[in-house]
Amino acid sequence: MTVFPKKKQVQIMEAWEALIYSYDEAQYYMKLAIFEGICSSCSIFYDYVHEQWLIPHKERFVEAWTNRVMHFGNTTTQRVESAHWSLKRILQDSIGDICSVWETINSMIVLQHNEIIASFEKSIIQKVHRYSNRLYANLRGVLSKNAIDHIAAEYDRVKYVSIDQTECRCTIRTTHGLPCACEIARYSMIPRSIPLDAIHGWWSKLTFHVDASSQPSELSVKHEIDVIVKKFEELDVPGKISLKGKLREIAYPSTTSMFPPVAKVKTKGAPKKDKSKVSKRDKSTKRDPSW
Ligand SMILES: [Zn+2]
Repeated sequence: MTVFPKKKQVQIMEAWEALIYSYDEAQYYMKLAIFEGICSSCSIFYDYVHEQWLIPHKERFVEAWTNRVMHFGNTTTQRVESAHWSLKRILQDSIGDICSVWETINSMIVLQHNEIIASFEKSIIQKVHRYSNRLYANLRGVLSKNAIDHIAAEYDRVKYVSIDQTECRCTIRTTHGLPCACEIARYSMIPRSIPLDAIHGWWSKLTFHVDASSQPSELSVKHEIDVIVKKFEELDVPGKISLKGKLREIAYPSTTSMFPPVAKVKTKGAPKKDKSKVSKRDKSTKRDPSW
């Protein structure tokens, strides 16, 4: 068996990593030539990797090909391996009857289920300061946090990419169904918030409930609206005003009170009386209510 010196191993692994992260076929063949050059002193190793892995299977793990399919980030079998490892750890040994094994597996699945529900709730409730930008107004509390993290990473690329599709390469749109940098740049220029229909439905399924299936026609908010109306009727006047304000922000996001005023509002001192004939309402410096 050939044993490579440590320095050579590092070089080979770096060249291999560059090869599998090639973003298109042209770059792949360029990186393959570099990889072959580095492996020139160990042609048996190169031939094995090339003939047994790259030629028959490159479409399954080299980014130039995996970037063409929607995989939502699941590019390895790591999740399955991880679940298998956890189960083996809990079972500890192969001794035990079917009932005890069943109990153990059931407990593990219940635990995982609860962890996923907790992550859904975190995505719905938790407010991250970084995402207070108006761009995310339609997405907060509706998408998984993971999806917003991906969009934020694309937003960070906007300053380099702008609306240039060639520069952007739009990988996240193809692989994750999320807006890529050039798309986000266009929303920023209008300016408008990222619309929910620019996001694949996968990312907004924050429940195990059957009602939130992938069939939009079956979705309904009737129950939630009924509960809100009932709560509204039970509130006192300030509570009603507050709830109404919140609902208006959802119903009319473009007119939310969070927007900056078009013109600078004079907040100190009343206008002078004799300058012009203005109505009492126009003279008032009182802020317009947000509902
Ligand atoms: Zn793009």
